[in-house]
Amino acid sequence: MDFAYDAKTEELRGRLLPFMQHVYKAEPVFAEQAAAGPQWSTPPVVEKLKARARAAGLWNLFLPKVSGLSNLQYAPLAEITGRSPYLAPEALNCAAPDTGNMELLAEFGTPSQQERWLQPLLDGTIRSAFCMTEPGVASSDATNIATRITPDGDHYVVDGHKWWSSGAMNPRCEIFIVMGKTDPDGPRHRQQSMILVPRDTPGVDVRRGMTVFGYTDGPHGGHADVVFEAVRVPKENLIGAEGDGFAIAQARLGPGRIHHCMRLIGMAERGLALMCQRANDRVAFGRPIGQHGVVADWIAESRVRIEQARLLVLKTAWLMDTVGNKGAHTEIQAIKIAVPQMAEWVLDKAIQAHGAAGVSQDFPLAQLWAAARTLRLADGPDEVHRSSLARKELGRYPTPQT
Ligand SMILES: Cc1cc2nc3c(=O)[nH]c(=O)nc-3n(C[C@H](O)[C@H](O)[C@H](O)COP(=O)(O)OP(=O)(O)OC[C@H]3O[C@@H](n4cnc5c(N)ncnc54)[C@H](O)[C@@H]3O)c2cc1C
Repeated sequence: MDFAYDAKTEELRGRLLPFMQHVYKAEPVFAEQAAAGPQWSTPPVVEKLKARARAAGLWNLFLPKVSGLSNLQYAPLAEITGRSPYLAPEALNCAAPDTGNMELLAEFGTPSQQERWLQPLLDGTIRSAFCMTEPGVASSDATNIATRITPDGDHYVVDGHKWWSSGAMNPRCEIFIVMGKTDPDGPRHRQQSMILVPRDTPGVDVRRGMTVFGYTDGPHGGHADVVFEAVRVPKENLIGAEGDGFAIAQARLGPGRIHHCMRLIGMAERGLALMCQRANDRVAFGRPIGQHGVVADWIAESRVRIEQARLLVLKTAWLMDTVGNKGAHTEIQAIKIAVPQMAEWVLDKAIQAHGAAGVSQDFPLAQLWAAARTLRLADGPDEVHRSSLARKELGRYPTPQT
């Protein structure tokens, strides 16, 4: 077993690490430009970083078909971008939800869907949203989805109410991938389909942005509440065949989940670095804060938890490369359970070590914590992954015959 990164990964890390210095410098500019508005638009500094990343060959690294990178090679790079999760992933055109949508179009889109929507997404000139979750039903069970996609001549008619459509408040978010039912009476996992709905189609009403612990996530396009009322789109906008929606959603979520986990490790590393610096610099009751036993314990425990999480993520990436996303299903669930909780824990301790500064706008910790906390819900709540993983584990043992 070789724990070293290979030469290609090291070479890309060698380019990405200096690029991150530009990202850190851009963070206060980004905050200023975002505050100056307009609220849901991408601050200009992001476009500057995108141009720089592209020139440095740090573009679309997430997509194996384009970058030639395996999951194992991409993992340490995504981790580095996670240290500044509101800037670096978008600068490299590697930000959710566009990454998942691009993977989906690359895998399941027709050549004309790819030309119309995938290419501008790969070029970073538009953004996209994925609309599955609905306010009216428990959406962690995707079979509950109530939106209807009804055939009508050469068209489908979409009717439904979605929320938490990340990115959709941004005016540059031009295309929505909507999940709904084409066959509400069919077999449970064949009722759903996915369809491309251009934002400017009559009947699409982007109503409001949802807040995350009070943050709007505005510069990234927020998380939209969207109503689709008698929205007519041509039949060729369907992705795959009628009834394929559930399977496509599952395929989309595997890589999406590991990418979140890779970035979460970077978020936790940033938290630990800030915690150590603060603990060395600040003196309370006659000693640097880090020399108080409890804080030293947080620091040691943070290092242990981060290393454990990283190893599990790398193992999962290696499994995805060697036995496929299906073969890595249990490990993908395991990291989706373990890594957001790890990052949430480390960031919570980093906040505590900073005192009141930790919850303020002067440090990135509060927003990093909020992001880590939401990832215990987004892409499937912890409990759903736990119960599914437990079922699989229990299935390895015999049950009494009745
Ligand atoms: C920041 C953020 C971004 C998001 N982005 C998107 C997006 O871009 N597109 C999109 O479609 N959605 C998005 N979501 C929505 C997210 O995927 C859903 O919130 C998630 O799937 C859970 O669905 P729900 O909110 O309806 O919770 P519900 O299904 O109502 O579940 C509520 C709670 O019930 C419990 N529960 C459910 N099932 C079980 C079980 N089997 N065992 C034990 N307990 C259980 C869990 O504690 C769960 O948290 C986002 C959410 C957030 C917070």
